[in-house]
Amino acid sequence: MVCYECFIRGQRRDAIGLCHHCSVAVCAEHAEVVAVPITEKVLLVKEIVLPLQARRLFCKICRAAIEQDHVVAQDEAQTVSSREAEPIDVATVPW
Ligand SMILES: [Zn+2]
Ligand SMILES: [Zn+2]
Repeated sequence: MVCYECFIRGQRRDAIGLCHHCSVAVCAEHAEVVAVPITEKVLLVKEIVLPLQARRLFCKICRAAIEQDHVVAQDEAQTVSSREAEPIDVATVPW
């Protein structure tokens, strides 16, 4: 499997994994691994963070999207109902 980000730039590089969010294959350069807290529910109302963290691999686009700050100006914010579907340039990856 080849890296999608490299592929759309005309390069071929082996992928090391799949983005947890969008499932594209990414190489070491285009992958980012983040620590994920593991929690446990206690007495149905309290949640505690356990000492060991898991890991999760993302492509750079999804990591930036997931960690983006809130929009400051309210009128710039898009809601799900106001957002129209935008065409995206999808290159076909030869798996
Ligand atoms: Zn790559
Ligand atoms: Zn992704």
